[in-house]
Amino acid sequence: MKPRALAAVAVALAVTVALPQVLHSQTAAPEVSDASEISDASPDASDALAADAPDAATAPAPTATRPYDHVVIVSFDGMRPDGMEQADAPTLHRVRAEGAYALRAETVGDSSTLPSHTSMLSGVEVEVHGMEFDDFRPERGFTRFPTVLYRAHDEGLATAMFVAKQKLRHIALPGSVDLWSLPHWSCERVARAAVAYLPTAPPGITFIHFEEPDDAGHRYRWMGPQYLAAIGRSDRCFASVMAAIESRADRDRVLVLVSADHGGHGRRHGTHNPLDLHIPWIAWGSRVVRGDFEDPVRTTDTGITAMAALGLSVPGDVTGRPVRRAFEGTPVAMEGDAGTGADATPDATAGAVTGDAARD
Ligand SMILES: [Zn+2]
Repeated sequence: MKPRALAAVAVALAVTVALPQVLHSQTAAPEVSDASEISDASPDASDALAADAPDAATAPAPTATRPYDHVVIVSFDGMRPDGMEQADAPTLHRVRAEGAYALRAETVGDSSTLPSHTSMLSGVEVEVHGMEFDDFRPERGFTRFPTVLYRAHDEGLATAMFVAKQKLRHIALPGSVDLWSLPHWSCERVARAAVAYLPTAPPGITFIHFEEPDDAGHRYRWMGPQYLAAIGRSDRCFASVMAAIESRADRDRVLVLVSADHGGHGRRHGTHNPLDLHIPWIAWGSRVVRGDFEDPVRTTDTGITAMAALGLSVPGDVTGRPVRRAFEGTPVAMEGDAGTGADATPDATAGAVTGDAARD
């Protein structure tokens, strides 16, 4: 399916997703599409959203031009780079030492969770994808710009999201995520769901979200002891994720990207303060050029780097660019300028998502 077909598909699938809620309000039918209900499902083939997930037998075979078969993006909500460095976080520190670390990485100007994660996973600025709010609003539907998960799924790759905040549902365009998992706010539960999936995951993109650093920052303050302890807890969850990845026989075909949606200062974020904008950015994998590097990285580069690492053409309508240190030596395919822009934009007003209010 080509991107220009996206609008029609988004409309059709959004209607499918929204309909059970309408039935529920009128006839008390089960809310089978409710995101909170989906979140309780175990991440296996019985998950409704996993119905069309490719398995190892049908997924595209590894190719010489595909630097990696799997990209796992792990986002630590609200983790400042200096917080990562100061926390008792041995797995983050190891992955940084074994990978490439951007000393100058920034999130988008609206340094809030939903806007910045949408930019991370779509490669465009907030005004382009339209997710300019930061809470769960079912009536606002989905991002109006295709995500990298959508594009990868369109190419037959598997996609999965394991998240701790319901508002991220706005990023999961209908038909773009084979496995949507919102098990709980705690990283232990999120990691447990991801660890059940990762050892046998077919080629594709997996997104994992831990929320504790942000929560501790709001409750106590950024860089305080409780905040650093929350990074430490998240790091133990990350350790189990890395163990699952490193248990794979093809672990040299897995690229891990570690980042954050924003930083914070005092007990807040969302401003243009550099403490809010500066984020950690790590690439870890067998083709990564190791070491810290000075080149600027923007959060819009993260998803685009994932696409390029999977051998997918970089779309012509995004502002993010591949961080080539993640897969040095492999050419990057760039899509032509032949007008995918307007046609690739889903109708945000058509979709509706369902569920409960979320933490920020
Ligand atoms: Zn926050």
